[in-house]
Amino acid sequence: MSESVTKERKESSEANIAQGMPEGGNGPLLPPPEHVLSTLERDGKRRWLRPKLSQGLWWHRRRILAYVLMLIFVVVPYIRIGGKPLIQLDIAAREFTIFGHTFLPTDTLLLALTMLTAFISIVFITAVTGRAWCGWACPQTVYIEFLFRPIDRLFEGTVGKGGQAKRKLSGLLELVRFGLYVLLCMFLAHTFLAYFVGPERLATWMRGSPMEHPAGFAVMAVTTGLLTYDFYFFREQTCLIACPYGRFQSVMLDRQSLIVAYDYNRGEPRKKGKHNLEDKAGHCVDCNQCVVVCPTGIDIRNGLQMECINCTQCIDACDTVMDKVGLPRGLIRYTSQESLEGKQRRFLRARTIIYPLVLVGLVSALAFALSTKYGFDARIIRGKGAPFTTIERTVVNSFNLRLVNRTDEAQRYQLTIQSPTEAELEVIDETGLNLDAGETAMVPIHVRFPSRLTFGDGNEPILLQVVDSSENKREVSFRLLGPR
Ligand code: SF4
Ligand code: SF4
Repeated sequence: MSESVTKERKESSEANIAQGMPEGGNGPLLPPPEHVLSTLERDGKRRWLRPKLSQGLWWHRRRILAYVLMLIFVVVPYIRIGGKPLIQLDIAAREFTIFGHTFLPTDTLLLALTMLTAFISIVFITAVTGRAWCGWACPQTVYIEFLFRPIDRLFEGTVGKGGQAKRKLSGLLELVRFGLYVLLCMFLAHTFLAYFVGPERLATWMRGSPMEHPAGFAVMAVTTGLLTYDFYFFREQTCLIACPYGRFQSVMLDRQSLIVAYDYNRGEPRKKGKHNLEDKAGHCVDCNQCVVVCPTGIDIRNGLQMECINCTQCIDACDTVMDKVGLPRGLIRYTSQESLEGKQRRFLRARTIIYPLVLVGLVSALAFALSTKYGFDARIIRGKGAPFTTIERTVVNSFNLRLVNRTDEAQRYQLTIQSPTEAELEVIDETGLNLDAGETAMVPIHVRFPSRLTFGDGNEPILLQVVDSSENKREVSFRLLGPR
């Protein structure tokens, strides 16, 4: 082993011991070349974060919103508009009801426009308000911070100044805490399932045996397992490692976007304890409170970081410290990168002009597509086998008429051939002409026509009119085949 490596290991070992970490089974550990993850110790073990709670102005606002959002999540499956659910994603029936409007799989354009509108809205909101979603409305943050961490504090005691739990739980208490997590996750999983199957069917399932609905039970069990794993074990690592939205931030934010940031011009050079005028020190008293409250374990004073979910806990903690030392609040605050550099904050810029314009275009297209949406779909599919049959002087073509009822009511359909007038229509099975709301059917039909009808190039256009009981009309054109 070279002398320099031995020296580095010796220094590393001393550093590990100084930080209360093990030297490692096979000798001292080399320090990582750079900061890797706030949830990792230097020796690669999980660093469990127990952030201290700072009950400031922003925390009170976030708490109100969090409980409102939790309530909304639970009650939405029960809300109905005109007899239809507010939101229901019925995958089995391939129907998606959003704000009482049902989309079928054939509504590709409408679904694409809806998705695109939602996506551009998120991009626009992020460009203006930064990671407001992460800190204020993301279910991961809302449930961890306002449901599960309060449970932790109940069991472990409020977290002390240094950011450690007050009590170490006995095995039994740990089991009780885990059981509580599982129960709450089970409740969330059932609510989640209600968005797909509706509360009525869910209630029936809950009263019956899991064997009667194995797929639904499996979804609930897997969701409960995943949620428990996430909230009990994985926690803030979802934001740090797994969430793709966090990774997109760099492209969605610009230097004018709102961020939670430390004002380094005012704070530096930092100095511990109360400051005197002659100190010429910045306002940061290096109390570390902004670090011990951070749920992702970072130090906001190191600048804009991907791990920051804009939860505002460091603002509350620092404002409390500023009050105590008699300095103005806002050393850590909502601001933008350019504002920190002393530049004017501009709301109007390329992103805040282009995104709303795109949104206006998308919403107009969506409104137009919804207003011109037909009450039903009608499509002709040629029957299998010979293209036509000739019986005496009559030629017969076989088709299937595919009907989709897009209205919210049951409909009866009438079919009439518009041209050629010599052609006659025979519906083989009329069952499919009566459709319930959202139902689809294949209606087998025969078209007969006299063989004297001219077939110059072997085919002839035909126009079929379909009318439903709400007087919605569609004309379907296709071609008849016959002898030349
Ligand atoms: S809480 Fe404020 S004063 Fe304390 S270390 Fe953080 S930035 Fe400095
Ligand atoms: S740095 Fe501040 S705003 Fe960002 S995650 Fe940590 S406490 Fe929340």
